[in-house]
Amino acid sequence: MIDRCRLASNNISQLEALNKKTVAQAITSFEDLNVSRLIITNQNGKCIFDSYDRLNLVDKYTFFPEIIVALNGNDTFYCNYHDGAMRSKAAVPIYAYGTLIGCVYMMEYDTAQGTLIAALQNNIFIITLVLEFIVILFSFFFASAYSRRIRKIISSIRTARKGDYTHKIDLSGHDELNAVSDEFNDLVNRLQRSERKRSQFVSDASHELKTPLASIKLLTDSILQNNMDETTVKEFVGDIGNEADRLNRMSQKLLTLSRTEGEIETVSEIVYLAPTIEKVVRMLSEMASRSSINIILDLVEDAQVLVLEDDLYQIIYNLIENGIKYNTVNGTLSIKLSRNDDAVTISVQDTGTGIPEESLEHIFERFYRVDKARSRSTGGSGLGLSIVRNMVERNNGTIRVDSTVGKGTTFTISFPVFNTEEDEP
Ligand code: ADP
Repeated sequence: MIDRCRLASNNISQLEALNKKTVAQAITSFEDLNVSRLIITNQNGKCIFDSYDRLNLVDKYTFFPEIIVALNGNDTFYCNYHDGAMRSKAAVPIYAYGTLIGCVYMMEYDTAQGTLIAALQNNIFIITLVLEFIVILFSFFFASAYSRRIRKIISSIRTARKGDYTHKIDLSGHDELNAVSDEFNDLVNRLQRSERKRSQFVSDASHELKTPLASIKLLTDSILQNNMDETTVKEFVGDIGNEADRLNRMSQKLLTLSRTEGEIETVSEIVYLAPTIEKVVRMLSEMASRSSINIILDLVEDAQVLVLEDDLYQIIYNLIENGIKYNTVNGTLSIKLSRNDDAVTISVQDTGTGIPEESLEHIFERFYRVDKARSRSTGGSGLGLSIVRNMVERNNGTIRVDSTVGKGTTFTISFPVFNTEEDEP
């Protein structure tokens, strides 16, 4: 539109004089301008030509805002949409030989474009509504998914607070909530591990405490019931003292363990195996004679190892006790101690019930018992062999078992031999 204004302004600027007649003539020579209104004014704003018949402004001063801008020497264009129609207005100055002599003003009233804009407005309104709806829907969806995941975390925390550490949070996604749930799972795993350690410690400790107590009971019963000579009584009382010392060391160990959360400093000692085995046999001989079990000892004297003495005692005690417990009446228990240059080997062989092949791989597990009913009658808890294996391993030893059902079982443990001259610590 501004181009059409400039074209008209150019044509009019070439007229010799600017008056109603010359302008009207010039305008009829224009090709179809296709505007709703065309006004030409002189440099004072007085209208020389107005194409609009109804409110014709010829000879009147016409100070539309666009005309004022044009009379100040500037081109102007303004466009607005109102009441379903587009109104475009443009005005440009007319110069003749460099002097401003008037201006051309054009106005276009376009309902077709207006209808188009109205339809566009309508479409934008509908699209905005749909988008808003989608945004609200998505926000609702995300908010409820988020709060569902938070509820999951809260309920898991409550479950863990009740002491169930097996419960884990399984969240989908990769955001901060996943990081929180990973931390939670890690924490619960740790709690579960320390809970397991704690209960394992409590049951192992009570099992270990039973051994010296049972020995003291056995020794005092023997002294009271049998007519013993003074030397034997002294020997038995000495053994009672040793067992009391062992109890004392164990309670010290328990106290240290409870203070240090499972870490305890231990000192290995050089221990001769034959006297330890003989001592255990003496402790359990009463139990063996109750089932008429014949204990055969075949021990070398120079077998010494570097171990924790109490561990070694407990290992041998548990194996010989089992060899008696799971033997048959009138059975035999052969205990052999041998050594070569590298290792010391103790084998405890019974002629008892034997262990079925499918149970052999499980007997070192905590609380595992082959014959639950029988073990209960013998007072077993299924802890003895798991303690034995732990102790053997922490003293750098190995343990194996061979068994035939109906014939008997042999437990064989080995420790690296301690050669006094070479290995002196
Ligand atoms: P328990 O306190 O029940 O004796 P253990 O850990 O010492 O626990 O032994 C685990 C299981 O292994 C026992 O319940 C028993 O069934 C089997 N067992 C252990 N030693 C022998 C053995 N010498 N002969 C036959 N079965 C045995």
